[in-house]
Formats: sequence, structure tokens, C-alpha cells
Amino acid sequence: MKPFDYLRTSRASTAVGAVAARPGSSFVAGGTELLNLMKDQALAPGLVVDVNGLPLSEIALRDGRLLIGATARMGDVADHPVVRQGFPALAEALLASASPQIRNRASIGGNLMQRTRCWYYRDPGFPCNRRDPGSGCPALDGQNRWHAVLGGSDHCIAVHPSDLAVALRALDARVRTLGPDGRRTLALDDLYRLPGATPHRETNLRHGELITGVEIPVTPLARSSRYLKLRDRAGFEFAVVSVAAALTLRGRTVTDVRLAFGGIAPRPWHSAAAEEALRGRALTAGAAGAAGRALVQGARPREHNAFKVELVQRALADVLDDFGGGR
Ligand code: SF4
Repeated sequence: MKPFDYLRTSRASTAVGAVAARPGSSFVAGGTELLNLMKDQALAPGLVVDVNGLPLSEIALRDGRLLIGATARMGDVADHPVVRQGFPALAEALLASASPQIRNRASIGGNLMQRTRCWYYRDPGFPCNRRDPGSGCPALDGQNRWHAVLGGSDHCIAVHPSDLAVALRALDARVRTLGPDGRRTLALDDLYRLPGATPHRETNLRHGELITGVEIPVTPLARSSRYLKLRDRAGFEFAVVSVAAALTLRGRTVTDVRLAFGGIAPRPWHSAAAEEALRGRALTAGAAGAAGRALVQGARPREHNAFKVELVQRALADVLDDFGGGR
């Protein structure tokens, strides 16, 4: 690990100002992600600003929204009774994300900002357009079993690793930030960028812009939500594919639905076409199949990951079955 300067502050504006003033610097909260990347020498920030002293750990209902501070620990959010009752997909995604030890330490903001698990990215011995722009992408013709089948480009096909982000996408969450230019809120689709020709630009956050929390609307959809994660081993592992679904029914008819998918794209994947295949229709195996086919329209699998195209459709059918109609 390369030497770095360290700053801890209780003022958000000081933290933001310090990172904004120094290129290559980074925020840290739980440290479960950043320290690994620094040890692997995939990242080498010259300044690390510790945000654990900022008042950003609340978990509270206010004005029809669930507010979760960026330094709230994953475990505290997953175990919170309001989350368990009103946002089950969120609790399920967090519980499936990591071991209890990691959940006790890792923060909500850090989870959203975690980097891809593409092993080429994490090994500086390989070229990688995301880590070193213009150097190449060995995953395109290499070990791409874990990589994207949707939303990738000829420059990068890495998938986003966060279960939390997938659940938040299905729950219509927004991300709150504080940056050098002030506060703003972003939809998940506006937070994460698709790789295109610039995979090294992973988010639309400006340098020094800090995620301060997320807000999730309190809705019947959120209360009726599920998260399914399929992984290579039952112990804690990143998703091969995952599905977050929020769905309301009148009888067997789908009155409203939100879907988001993980493990198949460089950001939490949303498919309006898949939702349209369900909305206003009876929740039957036929409707679930139509939604799955709509989801994978335009998929571009690589040599080792074509199985994901079928697997994600099966996962969607499984989740819809939990609501009473996927099979
Ligand atoms: Fe790097 Fe993306 Fe290629 Fe992985 S898929 S090696 S992260 S450019």
C-alpha cells in the first residue's frame, strides 16, 4: 500500500472541501472496500478523508420517505424494523450482501460506491480501461463468466457489484449528495454511468461530491417487494444474477410493478419493457415469460456468460412466483 495522508472531521463541508481540493483523494467510511483496493494497488489515493464523524447515520421515516444516512451500517439498516416491514427487498438485499462482520462495518454510501469485482480491474498486472484508460479490456476475450450481457461496450463489460443498489433501483430511491457546488439528489440511473468509451468515469458525481444518504418513498409497492440473489456458493458471494421486484396486485392483475436486475449490467439494470409486459396483466407464467424475454432483448453475451441470459429470466420467474404467479 502506498503512503497517504489522513483527515478525520465532523464537518461535511470540510470533508468535501478537502477531497475536492486534491485530485486522487477519497472519502472512507467503513473501509471494507477502499482498503482492499489500496492494498491491491488498484487505487492509491494521496489523501483519505474519514467521514465516520459526520452526522450521517440516521435511519428514519420523514415526510413519506425512509431516509438512510450514508454512514449508517449495512447491518443496522438490514435489522431495522421499519426496513424489514416496509422495504423487505432492501433488508433482503443487505442480508444477502455480506457476512455479519462486514455488514457491521460497511456503510450504505460505501456500498453504493464500491468498485466492480472484475478481477482484471483489481489486478494491476493486467491492463484495464476502467483503471487505466486506453490500456485495453482483457475481459472481452478472456474470463468473462461474471461479466455483463446488457449495457456493456467494446471498452468495458464489468458488472456493478452492489445488491443494495439493485434493491434501491426497484424502490425508486434517490441519492442525496453534498458537493463543492452544494446539495442535490439523483435517481440511481443518473448516479451510475454506462461504460461507453469512458469506463473510468463510473458515476456522475463530481470529484469531492459526497453521498450523504438515500431517500426511498414509502409506498405499497415498497412494502410488497422481494430480492432474489443467485450466486456460485451459498456463503457470501457476489451475484451471478439478481432480481429486485416490487409489485402490487388486485386479484391476479398486476396494478403496478418495479423491477431491477443485478449481475448482468454495469449498473443496476432497469427494463421498462419487462415492467410493461406485466403491468395491467394477470400474473401468470405466460406474463412472467414475456417479461423475461423483454428484459433480455438486445443482450450481448460473451464466450463464457451466455448462461446469464437464461438464468436471469428464470430468476425473474422465481421472484414472480413468490408473488403468486410466475409459474
Ligand atoms: Fe477493466 Fe472493465 Fe475490462 Fe474488467 S471489463 S478488464 S473492469 S475494462
